[in-house]
Amino acid sequence: MTRSTCPYCGVGCGVLIGRDGAGEIVVKGDPEHPANYGRLCSKGTALAETLGLEDRLLAPQIDGREAGWDEALELVARRFTETIAEHGPDSVAFYVSGQLLTEDYYVANKLMKGFIGSANIDTNSRLCMASSVAGHRRAFGTDTVPGLYEDLELADLVVLTGSNLAWCHPVLYQRLVAAKAARPEMRVVVIDPRRTATCDIADLHLAVASGGDAAIFNALLAEIARRGAVDRAYLAHVTGFDAALAAAEASDPAMSGVSNAELARFCDLWIGTEKVVTVYSQGINQSSSGTDKVNAILNCHLATGRIGQPGMGPFSITGQPNAMGGREVGGLANMLACHMDLENPTHRAAVQDFWRAPAMPEAAGLKAVDMFRAVGNGKIRAIWIIHTNPVVSMPDADAVRAALRGCDFVVVSDVTARTDTAALAHVLLPATAWGEKDGTVTNSERRISRQRRVLPAPGGARHDWRILAEVGQRMGWRGEFCWTSPAEVFAEYAALSGVGGRLGVDFDISEYSEISLPDYAALEPFVWPQGPGRKGGRFFADGQFYTPDGKARMIAVTPRAPVSRISAEFPFRLNTGRTRDQWHTMTRTAKSARLNQHLGEPYLEIHPDDAARVGLEAAGIARVASADGEALLRVYLSDAVRPGEVFAPMHWTGETASAARIDAVVSAVTDPVSGQPESKATAVSITPFQAR
Ligand code: SF4
Repeated sequence: MTRSTCPYCGVGCGVLIGRDGAGEIVVKGDPEHPANYGRLCSKGTALAETLGLEDRLLAPQIDGREAGWDEALELVARRFTETIAEHGPDSVAFYVSGQLLTEDYYVANKLMKGFIGSANIDTNSRLCMASSVAGHRRAFGTDTVPGLYEDLELADLVVLTGSNLAWCHPVLYQRLVAAKAARPEMRVVVIDPRRTATCDIADLHLAVASGGDAAIFNALLAEIARRGAVDRAYLAHVTGFDAALAAAEASDPAMSGVSNAELARFCDLWIGTEKVVTVYSQGINQSSSGTDKVNAILNCHLATGRIGQPGMGPFSITGQPNAMGGREVGGLANMLACHMDLENPTHRAAVQDFWRAPAMPEAAGLKAVDMFRAVGNGKIRAIWIIHTNPVVSMPDADAVRAALRGCDFVVVSDVTARTDTAALAHVLLPATAWGEKDGTVTNSERRISRQRRVLPAPGGARHDWRILAEVGQRMGWRGEFCWTSPAEVFAEYAALSGVGGRLGVDFDISEYSEISLPDYAALEPFVWPQGPGRKGGRFFADGQFYTPDGKARMIAVTPRAPVSRISAEFPFRLNTGRTRDQWHTMTRTAKSARLNQHLGEPYLEIHPDDAARVGLEAAGIARVASADGEALLRVYLSDAVRPGEVFAPMHWTGETASAARIDAVVSAVTDPVSGQPESKATAVSITPFQAR
């Protein structure tokens, strides 16, 4: 059996891939992988069912006709070079994905930031965890997740806020369920507008109003101070306490939508339990005030010193398998490789020197929503989209589709041509898929694991790092993009992390700077950092942070309602998210009949009282509309959603249900700090669909 890593969520479970007696591929949980110890969820268990080649893109295409690699790569290099020469480096962009392996990400980032000389590279991870990155950087000075998965098992209280862990990070949920069964004294609090499957283990569920999370954590901070629970010794390592507390005391707990009695119960539990972990995910991040919400959570842990110790700390959980790797490698438009800061001249010079780069941007590039706006208004004239489907997944998705339709030159690398985005490409490049490629990914606890190849590349499919490197070479940088294996890319990346480590940056894996091919092949999962300064473990129990003065910063947070306003025309609040058994826009999971059985079609979850009010019946068709677009969805009556709020899954595409692209309805409102879209709070109208 070959050891690899599941390509879906940020839990990063280890898998064993082999063949059964009939020669069919089988995938099992890896009992030795520290993320899952052999467990898999429904998606991981069905991996072998998603490897068929029936819809694979097997040769490059130019304007819909099959082409050779030479012709396609020459065209991509020439059109990017010409566009840059005529309109400058910021007239081109890469939009990449948390599905990329770290080695792929590294090459894309080096090509755009170091050689093209623009910071216009952003990732679809912008849609899922950019607010956590921004919150970490504001509080800690770097994007550092303090804890480890085992902290959820060691805690006496686990708070899950904006996280449907049971469906979105199922194996971590399984670990939590097992820990709670073993230690009945453990308590779990779920903060979520919906009564999700995660609430099955909740001792307390706070059905927070949409956007009300910061009001809850501000109320908690005020109560921590009022009850004398502040850790004064730890506060010596923190600045901003007084301002953060004043803002917390000034905020209105009623904004949370939670009763005073429920809030008091929550505060009793949180303040009265030393070993507390607060897990947060998309429900916090996908907000126009997501960064503030993250900092409201971090404030409570900093005020009490409950951070970086066994069973204690704030814990952001990433959505995608390599969202963390993308953060580390500089896949966001406002970051450099290895957690170095694009806008820090010392960091910039160090990376430029290491790369021997001709030109480095001095300011952040365009974040995802602004990037597609720039495509729409002609400022970006050539874009390369890699392993993501923004025509389905971006907010205001119809505008994204129109922007790409009007763009001079669109390149798409993917495993299939059957996406709404690939349909708009001038050049389609066939990439290898999971099981066919080698590289590394980082999960939510900073654990770097190998993905390993067990299948040959089908047809003409190539690895992403190699496609990007070949374009870099054809654009004139032959010597700088001449790796012969992902192991060489990883070694260069590790060496660069040592440069950052010497500048005092947290991310340092320089121990692997000279990793050999056999050692890379055998690389065991490890938690970073792994450099001369320190190895693995947790961060911040010692009060040492990565800010200029070495102290953490508490941030004054004033809770804000969602930007999209409820009105007579748009009286409902639309929440979007994942279902248990589908992944993203279903290009892989929809291949499994077993996974499709869970929830077979797109739906709108609506409270029965609301449905009756607008004339909808169970299993009818609802028309969901915002100022930006509309979708048609099957009605699913449920009192698990709050009256006035509705929920729709984000997976279905134009191909599988022509009017079900829910992101055509979601407004492209973003957090001003993180640039993350507010995907969970668009004001919408709901009416029965009348066939014309
Ligand atoms: Fe894969 Fe996530 Fe399921 Fe683990 S929990 S098997 S990483 S989808």
